[in-house]
Amino acid sequence: MGRESAYSARMPIRQLSETMINQIAAGEVIERPASVVKELVENALDAGAARVEIVTAGGGLNLIRVTDDGSGIPEQELVLAIARHCTSKLTEDIHDIRSLGFRGEALPSIGSVARLSIRSRTANGDSAAEIGIEGGRVSAVKPAAANRGTTVEVRDLFFATPARLKFMKGERAESSAIGDVVKRIAIAFPAVRFTLAGSDRSTLELPAADDSPEGRLRRVAQVMGADFPDNSIAIDAMRDGVHLAGHVSIPSFSRANALQQYAYVNGRPVRDKLIAGAIRGAFADVLPRDRHAVTVLFLTLDPAIVDVNVHPAKADVRFRDPGLVRGLIVGGIREALSNAGIRAATTGAAGMMAAFRPGAASYAHSGPANGHRSYEAAYRASGAAGFDPSRSPQRPLDMEFANGGFGENGQAAFDAGPLHSADARAGQDDAAEALLGMALGAARAQVHENYIVAQTTDSLVIVDQHAAHERLVYEALKNALQSRAVPSQMLLLPEIVDLAEEDAERLAMHSETLARFGLAIERFGPGAVAVRETPSMLGETNVQQLVRDLADEIADNDTVDTLKERLDRIAATMACHGSVRSGRLLKPEEMNALLRQMEATPGSGTCNHGRPTYIELKLADIERLFGRR
Ligand code: ADP
Ligand code: MG
Repeated sequence: MGRESAYSARMPIRQLSETMINQIAAGEVIERPASVVKELVENALDAGAARVEIVTAGGGLNLIRVTDDGSGIPEQELVLAIARHCTSKLTEDIHDIRSLGFRGEALPSIGSVARLSIRSRTANGDSAAEIGIEGGRVSAVKPAAANRGTTVEVRDLFFATPARLKFMKGERAESSAIGDVVKRIAIAFPAVRFTLAGSDRSTLELPAADDSPEGRLRRVAQVMGADFPDNSIAIDAMRDGVHLAGHVSIPSFSRANALQQYAYVNGRPVRDKLIAGAIRGAFADVLPRDRHAVTVLFLTLDPAIVDVNVHPAKADVRFRDPGLVRGLIVGGIREALSNAGIRAATTGAAGMMAAFRPGAASYAHSGPANGHRSYEAAYRASGAAGFDPSRSPQRPLDMEFANGGFGENGQAAFDAGPLHSADARAGQDDAAEALLGMALGAARAQVHENYIVAQTTDSLVIVDQHAAHERLVYEALKNALQSRAVPSQMLLLPEIVDLAEEDAERLAMHSETLARFGLAIERFGPGAVAVRETPSMLGETNVQQLVRDLADEIADNDTVDTLKERLDRIAATMACHGSVRSGRLLKPEEMNALLRQMEATPGSGTCNHGRPTYIELKLADIERLFGRR
């Protein structure tokens, strides 16, 4: 009733209260605790700090405290610091802003929704002073004790706007978002020392490096893990006055999500669709769709041709010439990759068809085959997961196969004779005859150490042994879980895996779940875990890559998944590592066993990434290809 009348009876126009204006602004600028951390750390950096210390509690909702050794705020300016649209960073030209902040919005916004206190002392101030603001209510400036610099403390974030609180994702998610924000900024300021600590996290310490290229790379390694530099390639490219620098991972060092892609425009951290798309484009030929490069890219360009101030909280940018920037990123990364001896495989279904058509031999000879091989060699050597055979058209049927050269390079050649004798011999052998009637037929040969060629009564079947086995292991793992824990095997020596601290922490938190899968894992000092047992089902596996992928998987889905979904994902990630790698020679019995297992396992026609595990060419179609029909 009262509500109704409030809407129907028109009220006179009035100015919103200061607190309300600030709360509306807070809705834009302060989305979650991590946004507060971003604003406060940026203020510290704008003040020229060499050290920034961040402490949080309760995912930042209970407490965020940022202490710096920067310029400080003079006592008489403390009131202005928390007043709207008051800034010491004014410039005449909005396109030429050198500081991270300039709107004068952050502190009043925070003060309108939380309990904020600022204690500060300048270089020539005799003592420190302090001011407080709680839900918009300002307290008087008081003397305080402090060293030079500023401490900003935010307690009970969103206590004044309870509706906001409901949108928070829980302590763990918020505290990890804070970690991401700090890392993102820290990469752009290698000469500044950062620490992030609190009851809700394990401590992140980033000692000061310097501004040289080596210093930058050292900071990047502090953030991304000590093994990143060895597994990355330097990028340095220039086009029409736009400069691109940084590092990208080699394809085999890819991750299961894109969280580890950092980009900066004129020194500011950005998250931008155009840049993300360009990175994907640059790696399209060397990475399967479900893998992501690890990247740190710095774009430097005339501030007049980019707008980094589109939105105060969102870190997107607007380039005047998006095509130029995209071209620079794609070109710069591709060139660096190819200089590093890793050439892109050619792609496309057209290549696949060409391979089946007469003249395939010369196609395979002429161009990409060599480059493709070198990539494959690198891929094999690295033992990376998830190679997509559908992206390498020459692979199933290239030179040796086209020439009928079974058995070359020591590949399996149990069917020693030429193909045309197979029918005759199968006819003499009842067992083999029976196999011809099975859906996937009788195995005839293994080619290129990964493809099983099989024959049914009316078709030719080619099985990708790696993809097929991955699916089978996945199903077996899921089944084993239903009954009891998965059997594990002890490693002779525990394997130590270096990771970003948060990844190590996340894995440790899930160690019980992982133990159910037969993976025994524990913390091993800061930024590392020790693996003592692996699931027997996986056989000999690349523990490093497995653990990294599991960390990604958990980071991606930690808070949203049900337990069952999480178990399934872990099973899928593990299966990917337990599969018979391409490159393993199989005996005839092993090949036939694999085919029979596939027939018996529902869903085995596609691998865990949705790609086919086998293809079938009907005899009729083969005959058509040869012009026999
Ligand atoms: P902006 O950063 O856009 O100027 P803020 O609301 O974040 O707006 O801060 C307001 C002002 O308070 C800044 O312009 C600066 O003068 C002062 N200030 C805030 N934090 C610090 C700090 N850590 N050290 C020194 N001065 C600070
Ligand atoms: Mg600011």
